[in-house]
Amino acid sequence: MKKRKIIVGSRESKLAVVQTQLVMDQISKHHPEIELELVTMKTTGDIILNKTLDKVGGKGLFVKELDKALIEKRVDITIHSLKDMPMDPNPELPLLAFYKRGNPYDALVLPKGCDELDLKKPIGSSSARRTLQLKELYEDAEFKSVRGNVITRLEKLDRGDYSALVLAYSGLARLGLEDRISKTFNHHEIIPSAGQGTLVVQGRAGEDYSFLECIDDEKTRIEALTEREFVRILDGGCSSPIGGFSMVEGEKIALFGLFYDDATGKYIKGKTEGNKKDGVKLAKALALKLKKDIQEQDASYRKGKVWLVGAGPSDVGLFTLKGKDVLEKADIVVYDKLVGQGVLGLIPEETETIFVGKVAGNHAVPQYRINEILLEEAQKGKNVVRLKGGDPFVFGRGGEELELLVENDIPFEIVPGITSAVAVPAYNGIPVTHRDFTSSFHIITGHTKDKEEPNINFEALVKLDATLIFLMGVSALPKICKGLLKAGMDKDMPAAILERGTRAHQRKVVSTIEHLPEESKAAKIGTPGIIIVGKVCQLANDFTWAEKRPLGDLKIAVTRPRDRSSKLAQELRFLGGEVVMLPAIKTLPIKNNQALDKELKRLKEYDWLAFTSPFGVKVFMDELRTRKMDVRNLIGIKIAVIGSGTQKAFEKYGVFVDLVPETYNGKALGEKLAETLKDEKILIPRAKLGTDEVLKPLKAANIQFTDLPIYDTISVSDNTLTKYDESIDYVAFTSASTVKAFAAHNQKIDLSKVNALCIGEQTAEIALNYQMKVVISEKATIKSMVDKLLELKK
Ligand code: SAH
Repeated sequence: MKKRKIIVGSRESKLAVVQTQLVMDQISKHHPEIELELVTMKTTGDIILNKTLDKVGGKGLFVKELDKALIEKRVDITIHSLKDMPMDPNPELPLLAFYKRGNPYDALVLPKGCDELDLKKPIGSSSARRTLQLKELYEDAEFKSVRGNVITRLEKLDRGDYSALVLAYSGLARLGLEDRISKTFNHHEIIPSAGQGTLVVQGRAGEDYSFLECIDDEKTRIEALTEREFVRILDGGCSSPIGGFSMVEGEKIALFGLFYDDATGKYIKGKTEGNKKDGVKLAKALALKLKKDIQEQDASYRKGKVWLVGAGPSDVGLFTLKGKDVLEKADIVVYDKLVGQGVLGLIPEETETIFVGKVAGNHAVPQYRINEILLEEAQKGKNVVRLKGGDPFVFGRGGEELELLVENDIPFEIVPGITSAVAVPAYNGIPVTHRDFTSSFHIITGHTKDKEEPNINFEALVKLDATLIFLMGVSALPKICKGLLKAGMDKDMPAAILERGTRAHQRKVVSTIEHLPEESKAAKIGTPGIIIVGKVCQLANDFTWAEKRPLGDLKIAVTRPRDRSSKLAQELRFLGGEVVMLPAIKTLPIKNNQALDKELKRLKEYDWLAFTSPFGVKVFMDELRTRKMDVRNLIGIKIAVIGSGTQKAFEKYGVFVDLVPETYNGKALGEKLAETLKDEKILIPRAKLGTDEVLKPLKAANIQFTDLPIYDTISVSDNTLTKYDESIDYVAFTSASTVKAFAAHNQKIDLSKVNALCIGEQTAEIALNYQMKVVISEKATIKSMVDKLLELKK
């Protein structure tokens, strides 16, 4: 009879070969009918021996080549030290058998000829786990890393480089070097590495490996899986000093764990016991407990939290109040592509952000990495907002993102969002249900891998006789329509494709399932888009409303400082415009303003006060208040303002103004003042870099004035999330300085393509200097700017 031949793969180091031989001998003893052949290979980890493992990529290094050999069927099984195996094994290459564990402990080896530890030289220890624990045992010792296989390490020791080495007992024993061991550390002294002393056999999923039962040791298997779970939960790669050691005795298991917290630099040991059946569960509980304990020990520790927030379909008005609240409090926001620009504009400028979506040419951050980012940031104690388009649980992978958080005991909240599945049809005049047509609607993913057929049960869908809403289906549109037709749907069934719903430039094609693909193609409909099939689609034309709003299809960028832009933005949005915030400048009161101190002390000497902006009023009045000066200090002083906005801002303090020019600009104010003042003195608190339009007429008329800078306008950093692009129809400029800041921020764009809506002549002049196309509002008011847009739309 021909023998069955099994090719066994192993690393080529002496220890690896000895260990593999050990396992092969056992197999041969039980199965003489099997012929075993050993094949050894160099692994990346063996080649890079001069660096510590954490610098070169961790455990996987020692197994990669062997995995490859298995997959390519060059070998049938591989044999490893369990502690070399990555914590997340490849399901295609399962661990098949756990060979009876050798001595699991660490051991101390002295140089040849020595019988005492001489601490003048460092102790050689190649793992952070060992070093950490050894420091407790040998307080005065120094430690130095040592790499290479056991033999080379011993050579270095005997050469006199080290006072001692600490190595795995089992490795020494298997090489016949037991006699060199001068001390064994038990688990109360040094908790070993998970799986230390254990050999495992790995093979391919789905093949017959029943011959391995003879070497599989149940006790070893339970201990190994328990220890590995402990380390897995604590994410201990090679570089983290994490130790896990368990002992099965009868029906019981005891587990000892060591956890080192990177964030605090502290470590903690713990122990748990229970029934051996529950090993993995016990391991998880101990891991989480140690993690919690160590964090609670640290007074400065603040536990992070994750909010999974739905951003809605795009229109910022459809974002929830709760979402906005948490966004404002976030330390970091992790967002992807479908989040609307309006919503992004709500993220405070100083908040850290991470974009994980796909941009042209670049792949999106893979899902597992997103999950890790959320965990890592929360573990740093941050409030993390994970912002996703629509609703986080509607094809949003929200569930997947929670799993790792739950595993790591990170608190979280879900803030649902308005899903595009319902809102986009609504913005296109399609009610997803209507008693005359349908009693249910169904949301289906149309996502397919490149050439594959969609995995959709079309027969079942056709039978429903309902509204069908397909997300992620734009590229699969022809396949979806064909599938429905083939499954018996009436070819005249109304259907629509809705592109970029709830935004200013949303588009729709309404047709039938027979003709929708060709009409959509002709209209060049792109992503994101929703396909909706059902009788309700025939209402789309009668119910069109979004585009009919006064500013329904306009996208307007607002460049005012964010905190003061709300009025214009609010007004434009109310009329149906899509507003993008391009914060260009920021205004801040000047700190330690000595000139202001001086002028306030001699306020009584002035007959007039003039203000050129609402912000100037606010800063001035705030300054009075901080100095405990109330409005009675203004008795006898007349007030002039540049326009109605500034007038309103001042009159809030219960004082009416005395002078407002007909035209709301600096020049007009200056002229009017020059006309009115007779031998009187005026104080003008305003922006540091204000233009001198207002001052010129005063100078000309020889009027005594003091130009008092009280706030400064600074350009904001360029890390804002919302940027100018050509989909913006108008950019609204409310001051000359915002035009300048915009141009400075957007040096790469063709400014001659920008339609500038300017608040007044001065602003327009600057915009013209930059070659922008300019429209000017009649008056220098927000209302007038809005009116101008309404007029342009007609
Ligand atoms: N969680 C999201 C859906 C994520 S799947 C939600 O609840 O809306 C992404 C798909 O959503 C896109 O492929 C597209 O089909 C749809 N989508 C999201 N926003 C959209 C929009 N503004 N207009 C059209 N389709 C949109």
